Parts: sequence; C-alpha cells; structure tokens
Amino acid sequence: MKNKANYHILVGVLAGLLIGLYIKFNPLANGSDSILYIAELVADIFVSSLKMILIPVIFFSISVGIANLSSHKQSSKIWVLTFLFFFISMALAIILGLGSMNLFQPGRGMSLSIFSEQLNNFHQASINLNLFTKQFFGSFFVNPLKAMAEGNILGVITFSMLVGFAIARGGKEFVEVKKILNGLLGVTMKIVSWIVHFSPYGVSALIIKLVTQQSPDLFLTLSKFIMVIIGMTLFHGIVVLPLLLYFFTKINLVALWQGAREAMVTAFATSSSSATIPVTLSAVEKNLKVKPDIARFVIPIGATMNMDGTALYEASAALFVANLSGIDLEIGQQLIIFCTAMIGAIGAPGIPSAGMVTMAMVLQSVGLPLEALAILLPIDRLLDTFRTAVNVEGDIVVSLIVQKLIRNN
Ligand code: ASP
Repeated sequence: MKNKANYHILVGVLAGLLIGLYIKFNPLANGSDSILYIAELVADIFVSSLKMILIPVIFFSISVGIANLSSHKQSSKIWVLTFLFFFISMALAIILGLGSMNLFQPGRGMSLSIFSEQLNNFHQASINLNLFTKQFFGSFFVNPLKAMAEGNILGVITFSMLVGFAIARGGKEFVEVKKILNGLLGVTMKIVSWIVHFSPYGVSALIIKLVTQQSPDLFLTLSKFIMVIIGMTLFHGIVVLPLLLYFFTKINLVALWQGAREAMVTAFATSSSSATIPVTLSAVEKNLKVKPDIARFVIPIGATMNMDGTALYEASAALFVANLSGIDLEIGQQLIIFCTAMIGAIGAPGIPSAGMVTMAMVLQSVGLPLEALAILLPIDRLLDTFRTAVNVEGDIVVSLIVQKLIRNN
C-alpha cells in the first residue's frame, strides 16, 4: 500500500512534466487550454486542502506533542538536540553555498546593468534587520484566533506550545483535555491521509502549471547561476544531509528517500514547507517510524525555522549579487552574510518565495543593491521547488537523528 502510494506520486511527477512540456511547446494544440484549466483547478484544490488542514495539524500536534514531551524523561535534551541540529544542518548548507559561489563565481563577466528591463520594473519592498526583528518577534504573541485565521504560523506555534506546557504543568487536572486534543489530532490526521491519497494528482497538476509558466529568456542569461544553485542544493540534499544522517543513525540514503519522498515531492510541487507539514508528519511517523512525541515537536517547528535550502540560497545569492555589482566581499563580510542568511532562513515562513523577502535583509547587511532582487524574482519559482524540498528533508533528517540520540541514552 505504502509503496503503491510512493509509486503513484512518481508517476504524477513524470506525467506532469511530460504534459507540461508538451503544452509549453505546442500551446495551440487541441485541448491545451482545457488541460491547463483542469490542471489549475486540481492544483488549487490540492493546495487549498493542504492549507485547510494545516492549522489544525499544527495546533493539535504541537499542543499534544509538548504535553507528552514535557512528561518525557529527556524533554530538555530533545529541545537542545533539535535546535542544535537545526543549526548544524543550516550552517553546513550556508558554508556549502558560500564555498561554491567563491569557487564558481557565476556572476563574473556580467553586470547589473544588462538587466535594465527587470530593474526598471522593480518596486523595492525594503526590510532591514531592525524592522525584520520587530516583525519577527511581534508575530509570536498574538490573538490565537487571529493568527489561525491569517495563517500566522509563528503565532499558532507559540500558542500551541503554551497550551502544551499548561497541560503538562496541570498534570492530572488536565488529563481529559489532553485526551480530547489527542482524539482531535487523530481525526485531523485521518483527513491528512485522504489528502495524501489525492496528492499524485495535485502534484501532477502543480508541475504542469510550473512548467508552462516559465519564460526561457532570463533563464538562459542566468543559466550558470541557476545550475550552481540547483547543483549545490541537490548536493546538500543527496550528499551532506544523508551523510549527517548516516553518521548518527546508520540510516542510508535509499531508506531515507523511500520514507521521505512523498513529503519531498509535495514540498517540491507546492514550494511550501508549511503546507507540506501534514504530509511530512505522516511520512515521518508512518514510513520512517519516528515516535509521535518527537515528530510532532520537530516537524512543525522545523518547517518554519529549519530551512537548509533557503539558508544556502540566501548566502549564495548575496555573493552572486556582489559578483554582478563588481564588489569583492572580504571574509568579515561573508561572515555577516553567514549570520544574516541563517536569521533570514529561520525567519522566513514556509510559504512560496518567502526567502526572497528575507533576502533583502541579507543584501542590506553588507550594503548590496536591493534592486538585484528584480533579477532573482522571475527565476524564483523554479529555484524555490528544490530549496523547499531540501528544507523539508532537513526537518525529516533532524527528527531521525534526535530520535536516535534520545533512544541511545
Ligand atoms: N518556499 C520555502 C519553504 O516553504 C521558503 C523559501 O522561500 O525559501 O520552505
């Protein structure tokens, strides 16, 4: 059953790719319009259904997860290990990004001025470190209903954690509340399993949309940069993260891929780690056998805070912009980029192109021109697919490592 679902999702990806390419190169062919219309409809239904179930999944899984975790003998160890491995995996990603950009220099020989068309159409939405910090911390403590209605994930996470802590502190007094929340989590996950069942169609439709909406011109000009970014993101996902996982757990790449592919393909197609949370949770618990008390803690928090692909991208893109602007960044400035890329990745919500917003802060931290975002935005839909898949893979890897290190003690 599990293998069948995995197989269906790969068929969905392939079908989406083939149909998308066919329509892209034969836009006037009979039926192209109808196929595109249906693809958009199916893609919208899929993404909306993930968003529909997202807030209940986050609320129930974190509140129940923390309530259980707090009674866990090693709860503080789980906290420390989770954040430690979030940091380690993102740090490795940034080092990889900075190293590869210094090595390949894909912006060398080009200059910002050749992108005059994009630069002229660009309206700057600037965000500096102070404003970002204010907004970031401001979104923690808010009316929970407002946060839920507006999809403010950080606000929902904070409230869910507080509910979880309160249940744990209350002990016997809140046993019934815990039971009810646990029951509701079960109901929510049942709905998730139906959505996962539908995911091959949703993924296929999203890929048709993705392929048909790309315009080739800017892609050709930026091909070296795009190839380095995709290559390094894949390297992090196929070599660095699996090595880290193998080192601590002896789980190999094939086993990781088999257990995680549902979630990674959904992340790739939706470009949203948050929308993928329901699928990631179900893959991690059912396929990779991570205990619910760890999975329900690490996955929802990781989806908003642990973003290896985004961290790699923000650091690399800053160096690319420096290249384009003819600015040589010294080691001290690259260190600043290391820090701001990490903060930017932690602060970016798990939604499409969120990394582009926090990217402004990274550029500003070392005085690079914000207009360069105009060049990066049109190619972002494509790059976002790979980095979101690796963001989700990072969360899965950390949950497996934490589980192993806890069990070994
Ligand atoms: N789309 C990414 C995610 O959801 C965030 C980003 O834009 O980097 O994980």
